[in-house]
Amino acid sequence: MAGILTYALHYEGAFNKNSLGAVGEAARLAKELGTEAHVLVLGEDVSDELAGSLGGYAAQKVFKVTGPEGLAQPVIDAMAQVMESEGHDYALFGGGLLGFEIGAGLAARLDAGVTMEVTNVSVEDGKLVAERPILGDSAISESRYKGRGIIIGRLNAFEVPQSTGDSAPVESVDAQFSPWSTKAKMVQRGEQRGADVNIEDAQILVAGGRGLGKAEGFDQLQTLAQAFGGNSAVAATRAVVDAGWYPYAGQIGQTGKTVAPKLYLAAGISGAIQHKVGMQSSENIVAINKDANAPIFEFSDLGIVGDLNKIVPKLTEAIKAKKGG
Ligand SMILES: Cc1cc2nc3c(=O)[nH]c(=O)nc-3n(C[C@H](O)[C@H](O)[C@H](O)COP(=O)(O)OP(=O)(O)OC[C@H]3O[C@@H](n4cnc5c(N)ncnc54)[C@H](O)[C@@H]3O)c2cc1C
Repeated sequence: MAGILTYALHYEGAFNKNSLGAVGEAARLAKELGTEAHVLVLGEDVSDELAGSLGGYAAQKVFKVTGPEGLAQPVIDAMAQVMESEGHDYALFGGGLLGFEIGAGLAARLDAGVTMEVTNVSVEDGKLVAERPILGDSAISESRYKGRGIIIGRLNAFEVPQSTGDSAPVESVDAQFSPWSTKAKMVQRGEQRGADVNIEDAQILVAGGRGLGKAEGFDQLQTLAQAFGGNSAVAATRAVVDAGWYPYAGQIGQTGKTVAPKLYLAAGISGAIQHKVGMQSSENIVAINKDANAPIFEFSDLGIVGDLNKIVPKLTEAIKAKKGG
């Protein structure tokens, strides 16, 4: 049977948003192909109820595998085994670092074609075609597959459908893990998801980069975001996330989130292409940078050349005054 297999990552009894997006997208595509969308769930203690709840996102069957959760290699083993035995033609992932790792490993294992950073998938002549932006998102390339295809979406590329509350049949699979697949152990798991940093829904984003100088530099951006009030949040570049100044949940860019707020204000950000791809659809882009030649000014609606440590507090005062507080 041809079909599409996805992998759903779960944590503390809930599925990851990207995974649910992939499940919904696989179901949509499978319907168009006249085939089925299946999901693989792997963990030490996954209940049939949780696994079956993926039926609410239109999955037709869920394969449940017992094994170490959150690591790529065991998932690659299990997905390869299920794809071989069930004859799935495609695997679809919702993006994120784990999806990239599993997808790449699966492509190597099955000798399949692989496309990453996919933003759209369509059906043509009974086969899937994956679209991927290239050249700094200025053009779209299309990938078709001679044999099996592994499609890995850009983070949050696939919309999460509303659950219908339906349940899918769950089949337990006894996966054979390769000796090297069980060598890595999950020592600790921490989540930095949207509880306090939810940049995707914010209408105003104040983003900080290495120009802030230190982690405490973000305090002034928090104050500025508070002065804006309403639906505003603070975001960051990868450079400062890697430095431990700000949580990954707030990272914009190629390996972070894609945002499109009404106002995006950059403080101390150079405007590297990997950052630009995550924010270039913002309605209004304002940048503060002490270097008049910083690349960010090339795609800003308003550029302020100067020291952010002087400009941000003044801007905050001005906004507070305008708002009467
Ligand atoms: C595969 C890959 C994926 C990547 N993914 C991402 C991603 O998802 N997101 C991302 O952001 N980056 C990503 N990067 C990194 C990216 O290439 C840049 O290194 C990063 O965006 C730079 O961050 P930055 O602008 O904070 O730092 P810098 O490039 O160091 O820029 C700091 C800026 O601050 C200015 N500045 C310094 N002091 C002040 C001051 N007092 N007042 C005003 N301005 C000041 C400087 O003039 C400079 O322009 C990725 C890179 C690779 C290779």
